[in-house]
Amino acid sequence: MEDTLKHQSLRKKLVEQLKKKGIKDPAVLNAIGKVPRHLFFESALLAYAYEDNAFKIGEGQTISQPFTVAFQTMLLQVKPGDKVLEIGTGSGFQAAVLDALGAHVYSVERHKKLHDKASALLKSLGCRVKCFYGDGYQGLSAYAPFDRISVTAAAPYIPQPLLDQLTTGGILVIPLGAGERQVMKQIKKAKAATAEAGAFTYKTLDFGNFSFVPLVNSTDWKAERQEGKK
Ligand code: SAH
Repeated sequence: MEDTLKHQSLRKKLVEQLKKKGIKDPAVLNAIGKVPRHLFFESALLAYAYEDNAFKIGEGQTISQPFTVAFQTMLLQVKPGDKVLEIGTGSGFQAAVLDALGAHVYSVERHKKLHDKASALLKSLGCRVKCFYGDGYQGLSAYAPFDRISVTAAAPYIPQPLLDQLTTGGILVIPLGAGERQVMKQIKKAKAATAEAGAFTYKTLDFGNFSFVPLVNSTDWKAERQEGKK
């Protein structure tokens, strides 16, 4: 499928909308303006690709609302060359936006079908994102540490491996909460001033309510498999 002038002009309008909604970071706006979001959609939903809404992508999952992607990306404060881990590849859209910012992106997805589809799509678009099929609660220890970690599903608690896999000075952005709504948290890791070697402090800021699909833990995941759902 191509990226026509019509798609490009709809994308410009989306970027204008995001600006009005308070996304000021020019690098983030530029990255969203570059990624052809319609290619991350089922063809039946194409007409909606540049509306500021979340949509179903199959397997009971959603592609996040562009505002949410922009907001989370803004909180991540990504610099070109940063190593970024994303938990929840989903459609691959957020990963493509991070790639467009010049980050080295690693993305983990627990749904095999979504993983396969997103990794093939990202490759075909020339994105250098490395996709992994696995459990995001564990992070990706083989490739750690990461300068930035973005969790794009609702986490009932902050998984310790993600904190451990951040660099000193690294940032984790995570929607936290077990219910229907989560609070977006930006967590910065720093060396503890007084304590012994290897001790860290975490400075947390809250950024309002969001609504994500749940980050599924491996116990529920196994149960789903046994029931033949996955
Ligand atoms: N970032 C995506 C949207 C993600 S929706 C995009 O841009 O389209 C959240 C995704 O997290 C879903 O695809 C879901 O399958 C995945 N997910 C849920 N629990 C997970 C886990 N434990 N590990 C990895 N991925 C998980």
